[in-house]
Amino acid sequence: MEYIKLNNGIEMPVLGYGVYQVSPEECERCVMNAIGAGYRSIDTAQAYYNEEGVGNAMAKCGIPRNELFVTTKVWISNAGYEKAAASIDESLRKLKTDYIDLLLIHQPFGDYYGTYRAMIEANEAGKVRAIGVSNFYPDRFKDLAEFGPVVPAVNQVETHVFNQQVKAREIMRQYGTQIMSWAPLAEGLNNFFSNEVLKNIGAKYGKSVAQTALRFLIQCGVVVIPKSTHVERMKENFDVFDFFLSEEDMERIYALDTGKTLFFSHQDDSTVDFFVSIGK
Ligand code: NDP
Repeated sequence: MEYIKLNNGIEMPVLGYGVYQVSPEECERCVMNAIGAGYRSIDTAQAYYNEEGVGNAMAKCGIPRNELFVTTKVWISNAGYEKAAASIDESLRKLKTDYIDLLLIHQPFGDYYGTYRAMIEANEAGKVRAIGVSNFYPDRFKDLAEFGPVVPAVNQVETHVFNQQVKAREIMRQYGTQIMSWAPLAEGLNNFFSNEVLKNIGAKYGKSVAQTALRFLIQCGVVVIPKSTHVERMKENFDVFDFFLSEEDMERIYALDTGKTLFFSHQDDSTVDFFVSIGK
């Protein structure tokens, strides 16, 4: 496993396992399988309703806690100083751990400045090792990085070959914030798994489309957390450290970038309506 150093000196694996859309019933089994396949970093969230499954697997897997890296995220309904502080304790209880390695504000809506204050205090109290944000586009990201008392260690945003976040990455780099990709496999959208460019490049290295795309992101300096409920795919997605894409192949994958979301933009007012409807 390769690690990157965050802006507060904490080391984080460049590849982890994401559990969005993994059911609460399946989560413990999936995380056990992922840890068995070699993953040491797990990405969950309060809003995934599966922190308990992650916690059970971490407690049972036999790997020392300090070799695991767990990320969770404060949901909008817990925004604001007091509710966020209580929710952090609740996440710790569900994850069956004394500390969260990385805690993120899940969405840039609601009183996230209050949330951030609670996260800073949790960090100072040793309950959290690093704090950051998710889905903060350059405008909101810069705002928090400039006016929040702590520059986020990480910003987790939609990042895959079709939406490479070139500008956002450059802005994060200026602040020393690490980009972390959600949907590194584009959730299979846009015929991702049958993309001819990725297939042809992968064939040269004896690698699959998924492996080629993950390797591309890692070589771009992006932390990736692919999700799969299938053990064979977990192993496949983990097996990306024994090859190196040439500059020419990187160029061909850069050309797949559309600069547009495959999901939704956090700057559309209809997106705000959606999050208000589910998160208030
Ligand atoms: P991914 O891009 O990781 O794609 C997951 C999909 O790809 C699943 O349908 C999975 O199916 C399939 N898949 C995985 N590996 C393979 C493979 N090797 N071959 C073929 N199919 C494969 O999408 P996610 O949205 O899950 O993103 C990853 C993680 O990012 C999430 O789990 C979550 O932790 C985080 N995330 C964060 C968000 C945020 O707002 N901060 C938003 C979305 C995600 P199957 O499971 O059936 O194998």
